[in-house]
Amino acid sequence: MTVHPFAPSPSTFEVHNPATGELVGVYPLHRGDEVDVAVYAATEAASWWDQLGFAQRARRLDAWRGEIARGRAALAHVIHTEMGKPISDANLEIAMALEHLTWATRNAEKVLGRRQMGSSLLTLDHSASLEYRPFGVVGVIGPWNYPVFTPLSSVSFALAAGNAVVFKPSEYTPGVGVWLAEAFTRAVPEHPVLQVVTGDGATGEALCRSGVGKIGFTGSTATAKKVMAACAENLTPVLMECGGKDALIVDADADVDAAADAAVWGALSNAGQTCLGIERVYVHTRVYEQFLQALLTAARPVRAGDDEAEIGPITMPKQVEVIRGHISEALALGARALLGGRDSIEGQFVQPTILTDVPDHAAAITEETFGPTLTLTRVRDIDEAIEKVNATDYGLGATVFSRHHGPAIAQRIRAGGVSINAFVAHALVPTLPLGGVGASGFGRVHGADGLKEFTYAKAVTRRRLPSPLALTTFRRTERVDAIVDTLIGILHGRSRR
Ligand code: NDP
Repeated sequence: MTVHPFAPSPSTFEVHNPATGELVGVYPLHRGDEVDVAVYAATEAASWWDQLGFAQRARRLDAWRGEIARGRAALAHVIHTEMGKPISDANLEIAMALEHLTWATRNAEKVLGRRQMGSSLLTLDHSASLEYRPFGVVGVIGPWNYPVFTPLSSVSFALAAGNAVVFKPSEYTPGVGVWLAEAFTRAVPEHPVLQVVTGDGATGEALCRSGVGKIGFTGSTATAKKVMAACAENLTPVLMECGGKDALIVDADADVDAAADAAVWGALSNAGQTCLGIERVYVHTRVYEQFLQALLTAARPVRAGDDEAEIGPITMPKQVEVIRGHISEALALGARALLGGRDSIEGQFVQPTILTDVPDHAAAITEETFGPTLTLTRVRDIDEAIEKVNATDYGLGATVFSRHHGPAIAQRIRAGGVSINAFVAHALVPTLPLGGVGASGFGRVHGADGLKEFTYAKAVTRRRLPSPLALTTFRRTERVDAIVDTLIGILHGRSRR
């Protein structure tokens, strides 16, 4: 059991292992004052961190990466005990997070550093430069489902861009957040550049109101709206990484076995608690029966359980009721369970459930289920598949299996990312941005966009020549006005349809 004494706090909260119920930690319930203290300390640290410059920061971020890599067994253990996923999956999550941290560290200067820009005919007398400056302090609010990968997608990029970070982890995984911050302090002992505040939704709300330069939020769409409302008070900008209802399309020319394997992993891994998890599958009628058999063959051996099982428990007790509700409603509306079903839920463990004949208006099709469940729908052609995939408010990601039409199908899907002939690859490629549209949020983590997300663009010009045309002065002459008028005609007046 861990007790983390960040600051004197009148109250604490407990963290329990979702698989066993065992108490695994007690953490302070940080309130507004304590959050403000952390943000105040971060403000001074941010100035030091910014002035270090890209190369010195990179050296320290590399040291942090080494701390995480060497401590991965301990970190994986904390992930496992707090949110329940198998140790090997926790290790995989850490590996993915380190890839992105490396990329952010290596590329921050290239993406954000000052560069000369071109000017125009009317501004030829100026040199122009652009750089991307850190906000100062960034607040990061994270979920529990990927308690390392997801928050680090913001934290690593905000730090590499030159910000200090105050991180509020989920109340289900505070120990993971504390572990990461302690590892950072070992690598960067000079100033509190990365701090963690622990607590519940009110702690996150206090961070939104604390005057930080930006909030990087990852969590549900419902909470995102509350975060935006709180941030609106100070006009604090927000990055919103929210929920999804991702689909898989299996085309007639797909490698059906590979598609079935991807469906099973995409839907069931992490007990289905993945923002980019596959929750709906649309299969071309020509390969439907073949896919169905391959899917059931691949899904049947997957069991939910503790330690040795392929998937762990449902982390949040209240989510079990959401999953039960989606399954029950679908069955009541005429769906059939090809695997699992109503009886698949026991305590916090949900066995894999595959539903077919689910009506389009059922919650299992329209709302995020966040459990190891899948709906399977036969479609007459790809047009119908795309129409159904896009018929949701969410737009986070999608998967397409097709030997010949993958890019064409991907282009028609309304989502922030699509992986063709593999599940979730677009979230793992470090150069690519990750994020959603619609109810899945806005803004991007990862890649160059992810670095720019935690900065503001700063434009600077310097007069380098005496002005050939004095434009911005009350001493502007009629001759200059006439030249401008002629230039408008030459430069723009000839544009036609
Ligand atoms: P929640 O929305 O419940 O919580 C997310 C974070 O917000 C938690 O730290 C939570 O604290 C905090 N919070 C809660 N209320 C407030 C508030 N009023 N003001 C500020 N912060 C608040 O999401 P979950 O933790 O349950 O995570 C699951 C969700 O995250 C799913 O919808 C999933 O799809 C999404 N997600 C999206 C990803 C993406 O990249 N788009 C990646 C991973 C997950 P506390 O836990 O203490 O309540």
